[in-house]
Amino acid sequence: MATYIVLLGPPGVGKGTQARILSETSKLAHVSSGDLFRENLKNETELGKLAKSFMDKGELVPDDVTISMIRDRISRPDCEAGAILDGFPRTPAQATALEDMLAEFGSEVNAVPYITAAESVLVERASGRWTCKAQGHIYHEKFNPPKQAGVCDIDGSEVYQREDDKVETVTKRIRVYFEQTMPLVEHYRTAGKLIEIDGTQPVEQVTKDLLAALKR
Ligand code: AMP
Repeated sequence: MATYIVLLGPPGVGKGTQARILSETSKLAHVSSGDLFRENLKNETELGKLAKSFMDKGELVPDDVTISMIRDRISRPDCEAGAILDGFPRTPAQATALEDMLAEFGSEVNAVPYITAAESVLVERASGRWTCKAQGHIYHEKFNPPKQAGVCDIDGSEVYQREDDKVETVTKRIRVYFEQTMPLVEHYRTAGKLIEIDGTQPVEQVTKDLLAALKR
């Protein structure tokens, strides 16, 4: 049976970084809804144009659009063994849609690591985040700057600040998160699938905790 892991956590907690690491170690596909939207934005698709108006304001893209994008993505062959879902689901309607989709494949959500941190830490982290243009490698101006300013260590492409990582938008995204995504925490806790991880620790320790918890 395929393995599906849903990573939950507010903007700035390091969810994307951990999802990448987890995907490499587990060999499961990394499916990031935010990355998929940004890819559409870059390629100027209809979906990208629609998503942009919501993303720029720090709001969520409507459920129907998001759900059908994820359905397409997890139906691809590289998700046959399962996936690490990063940024999806984000609303109760998306969680229900995901459960229905996976049931069609004869699967289910296996575990839901929830990476947490206080709101003040999140604003500082998310608003200092810089992203590489080519592949989305993540840096932080204070905690993890690239060796050469503005250049990705890994692929040499330009490192930029995402429009929605500017401080006003970050604050809005965190508020939206607490309003719309927190119910999912309770939903997965009740289902006995939630694993809480302290996201204020160094990246390596968060990874260790995450891997240990998933093994259990
Ligand atoms: P992220 O990179 O996960 O922080 O996502 C960036 C932006 O993409 C969010 O602020 C939303 O506008 C949009 N987005 C990403 N995932 C979702 C989702 N599951 N539902 C709705 N909007 C999303």
